[in-house]
Amino acid sequence: MTASSPFITLSNGVKMPAVGLGTWQSSPEEVMAAVKAAVKAGYRLIDTAALYFNEEAIGTAIKELIDEKVVTREELFITTKAWSNEIAPGKLEPALRNSLKKLQLEYVDLYLAHMPAAVNEDMSKAVNSPVEDVWRQFDGVYKAGLAKAVGVSNWNNEQIGRALATGLTPVHNSQVELHLYFPQHEHVDFCKAHNITVTSFGTLGSPGRVNFTLPNGHKPEWAPAPSELKDPNVLAIAEEKKKTPAQVLLRYAMDRGLAIIPKSVHENRIKENFELFDFSISQEEIAKLEKSKISQRLFLQDFMIGHPEDPFADERK
Ligand code: NAP
Repeated sequence: MTASSPFITLSNGVKMPAVGLGTWQSSPEEVMAAVKAAVKAGYRLIDTAALYFNEEAIGTAIKELIDEKVVTREELFITTKAWSNEIAPGKLEPALRNSLKKLQLEYVDLYLAHMPAAVNEDMSKAVNSPVEDVWRQFDGVYKAGLAKAVGVSNWNNEQIGRALATGLTPVHNSQVELHLYFPQHEHVDFCKAHNITVTSFGTLGSPGRVNFTLPNGHKPEWAPAPSELKDPNVLAIAEEKKKTPAQVLLRYAMDRGLAIIPKSVHENRIKENFELFDFSISQEEIAKLEKSKISQRLFLQDFMIGHPEDPFADERK
């Protein structure tokens, strides 16, 4: 029997699988095979974004899986994200309709603001659209039934607080960089206090991140960082539990009550990253793993520097 992921319940009652497939930097050809392998292995959540330029291939893979009766639409949970030029005033609903067309879907299960900072079409200029206005647009697409849940990504606590203060649809999910060497306790506590579920991205330390270029040709700067897959405490727990270092890092986040979306384009790793349900990491083991006390953001998102809604402005000082 195929294993299945546990669920995390969003504040509106929608059930989100706790484990999904990440697809950043998966080319259309790669992602088609990856999504099929993942769904056949038991994954039900696929995480994409307009910025990943692979929604069309994911749509084709989903359609084929549904046509082949491997899965139904209702069993799947599809997340996509509006890029910074799609959250500028008046842009969100057409952007989501465009993503839906590519994905061949009537609705997405979760629609996220990929970043809090709006920019113009070619990303050459900041657009001064406060997060309250961005959130108003998310409220609109949620109420129009185009997304079963809405959330944010790379927003800081203060920005999320301002979205909540609008009194519109609550923020259902916050997707943030979160891994053993960037554990984000403050953000997780804030989200818990406001009934917002958290999804960790980069749970494996995002070893492939350095290959990325933004659509405008900008190659982001990457903070140098040690590999979490080689952390001595991770290796020790992996050996003890007869699991791989990747599985320990993934389960570390899951056992903190978070959703995870590890990315791979290799079938063996896709399966490995889903073989997580026959062991757990205790609170004591979590504390042991965190003993190194490293807290190092890898994704600096430097394209937002100087933007009035740069979420990391305080950290950059
Ligand atoms: P990640 O999942 O931490 O790491 C993915 C990298 O690890 C890939 O290079 C992959 O290579 C490799 N890998 C996968 N499984 C492995 C295993 N079992 N052992 C060793 N290496 C393994 O990093 P991520 O892709 O940056 O983050 C995950 C997902 O989160 C993304 O794909 C995307 O969907 C989402 N994300 C969101 C944001 C945001 O701003 N909201 C930012 C970044 C990512 P192969 O593919 O070659 O196997």
